[in-house]
Amino acid sequence: MAKQATKTKSGLTTSAALVTANQKQVSGKKGPRPKHVPQRTCIACRATEAKRGLLRLVRTPEGQVEIDETGKKSGRGAYLCRVRDCWESGLTKKGLDRALKITLDPETRARLKTFGDTLPERSAIEVE
Ligand SMILES: [Zn+2]
Repeated sequence: MAKQATKTKSGLTTSAALVTANQKQVSGKKGPRPKHVPQRTCIACRATEAKRGLLRLVRTPEGQVEIDETGKKSGRGAYLCRVRDCWESGLTKKGLDRALKITLDPETRARLKTFGDTLPERSAIEVE
């Protein structure tokens, strides 16, 4: 009885399936946070500040420009930093006029200038 050794073909079929690294994307993203605090932009220096708060100026329906400390007056608003520098440049460079779509009369301009003069200079505030 002759045993026939059957050679088994060494069929090394290495499935070269590209092992794509299972890099599961860490789905920790929750998307953009819904910000309920709208950013305000200073019309003079273009700084956006939400927290520290810019001072709002509003053009009333009567065409008057008022300083809106509460930020709740209706009308077209514009924002300025609470620093003298921004008030000065906003008034002298007519940034405020543009923002409010109004031509400030000299009286109003003087009144706002006077207010701005009561504010501290930027250099007096620590601006990070
Ligand atoms: Zn400013």
